[in-house]
Amino acid sequence: MDAEFFRAWMTCAAEVVQAHRDHLTQLDAAIGDADHGINLARGFTAVRYTLEARDPAAGAPVMPGRILAVTGATLIAEVGGAAGPLYGIAFRRAGKSLGQAADVGLPALSAALGAALAGIQEIGAAREGDKTMVDAFTAGIRALGQAIAQGASPDEALSVLAQAASAAAIATIPLQALKGRASYLGPRSVGHQDPGATSAALILGALRDAARAVPLTAPGRAVR
Ligand code: ADP
Ligand code: MG
Repeated sequence: MDAEFFRAWMTCAAEVVQAHRDHLTQLDAAIGDADHGINLARGFTAVRYTLEARDPAAGAPVMPGRILAVTGATLIAEVGGAAGPLYGIAFRRAGKSLGQAADVGLPALSAALGAALAGIQEIGAAREGDKTMVDAFTAGIRALGQAIAQGASPDEALSVLAQAASAAAIATIPLQALKGRASYLGPRSVGHQDPGATSAALILGALRDAARAVPLTAPGRAVR
């Protein structure tokens, strides 16, 4: 997976966040302050502009790790609330984890997502089951690891990741929120899907969409 793939990931993420903007905001209206979709859509529009509109010759990022680092910095600058810093650190840590690699295999992607999750938990202190974006990241990364261990192709592994993250977002419905603004509602947060887990599932699901849009490569070999 090369820079083109990681650019496609961010383009697909921007599209899916935009398409679900009102849904994410409605979810946040139920257990938060109704800004999640609006904020994230603005943030990913800025990411897209930063990554696409800049002339590569004028310094647009050309390495996977740099693309994710620029994404993180842009989200921190553009997205308010809890989600801005949380997604910001996630992408920055993922970018740092990829380092200077020009072509990234599934294990390195898995490690980068693990670094993203560790960053989210470092500043947010949420654990799996607290009804936050951590639920979708944790389930997705776990499924990705299992798919890699079973020798899945990148297409298959990213589909499994997307499905697991989406299922985890839906599985937040019966949970009581223990972190973030929704936790102020106590038991009244039960029965609502968490907006951040939902957006995380969309963003992780965009990896699968990017794999469909861009022919995948792995270090030293073409995989399809
Ligand atoms: P705010 O609550 O500040 O308005 P957003 O609406 O942008 O922030 O994002 C809310 C989402 O952020 C929640 O649905 C939850 O998934 C996530 N979130 C909130 N607090 C935490 C935390 N401490 N750790 C992980 N995720 C969190
Ligand atoms: Mg909110």
